[in-house]
Amino acid sequence: MPSSPAPNKESCNPMTAPLSRPVDGYKIAVLDGDGIGPEVMQAARQVLTATGIIFQWESVSAGAAGIALYGKAMPDESLAMIKAAHASLKGPTSTPIGHGHTSANVALRKALSLYANLRPVQSLPGVPTRYEGVDLVIVRENTEDLYAGLEHVVVPGVVVGMKVITETASLRIAEFAFQHAVKHGRRRVTAVHKANIMKLADGLFLNCCRRVATKYPSVSYDEVIVDALCMQLVKDPTRFDTLVLENLYGDIVSDLCAGLVGGLGVVPGANIGEDCAVFEAVHGSAPDIAGKNIANPTAILLSSCMMLEFLNEPEAAKQVRRAIDEVYSKTRIRTPDLGGTATTDVFTNAVIDQVKRYVQEAASAS
Ligand code: ATP
Repeated sequence: MPSSPAPNKESCNPMTAPLSRPVDGYKIAVLDGDGIGPEVMQAARQVLTATGIIFQWESVSAGAAGIALYGKAMPDESLAMIKAAHASLKGPTSTPIGHGHTSANVALRKALSLYANLRPVQSLPGVPTRYEGVDLVIVRENTEDLYAGLEHVVVPGVVVGMKVITETASLRIAEFAFQHAVKHGRRRVTAVHKANIMKLADGLFLNCCRRVATKYPSVSYDEVIVDALCMQLVKDPTRFDTLVLENLYGDIVSDLCAGLVGGLGVVPGANIGEDCAVFEAVHGSAPDIAGKNIANPTAILLSSCMMLEFLNEPEAAKQVRRAIDEVYSKTRIRTPDLGGTATTDVFTNAVIDQVKRYVQEAASAS
């Protein structure tokens, strides 16, 4: 079993945030989403409220609710509310496979130019997996690639899907990855590609990463072909540090990496743009377990920690993270995805109890 030093817990790369705590609280756009979304989002709101910080929750329709109300999975009205908020917390929205409406996520990321999808993948104490000390950062380009949705039927039986890679978006995501690495003291950025086959598209992406790498001599830089990366990650994930990927590779590699640390229930994420940030778990709407009160809220709780850091509330973020670590390392409370029998509510309440304890301790120490 590979091992390495304990992961250093870290945050997203704040691009924009209020300068100080607003007197009437942070305005947070809340998108409950579909499937297990409402259950895990309720858990997130409860845990965030336990920090004692004031939040104004503004409910925003997206996914099935957006279609029911406005006929769109990501309505313009919702986008306006997200833009006006200090930050947004989003549950998963489902997209029908092979037919039906287009993805609310893709629409959201494109409309608000949330170009960077940041996904820290870290081992949790007390969650036994095949690997120890996993501490990866996935930086996924969020706005182009095959997700441009440009597909057409040339003749019956022949479909063309366009992979769009631009210099602007590739330079921007590479900059984000290196800036994040510098800010968080990470040692290496690895660009992931398939430029041996897609010589023009992935060649351009790689070329942009190389150009940006020359500006950051303190961070090592290397490259790996995406299929080789998957094999190497499964053999020893501790060989890697920060990965920068195009949209599709980023999507696939994120789920693979989630599997290294216990599954989709424990990996958080953030979608970050120049003037907007939306925090959401890596997992989808998991319709198979929706409504059963057994979804693991850890992923959205850790996404909430990233949001707290973005809002310049590092103490509260630490308290929530510590509370999650405490529940995993000191109790046997686990949701079924991690082999336990606890409900979403039981796990959430255990985290809330810890958060309240830390908040009280901090208050009596000051
Ligand atoms: P979607 O179509 O919205 O992507 P999906 O079910 O295809 O939904 P995910 O939601 O990502 O994809 O989930 C894949 C599997 O992982 C599901 O079968 C689900 O049981 C499990 N899973 C995902 N998220 C969680 C969670 N938070 N807690 C427990 N299990 C989860």
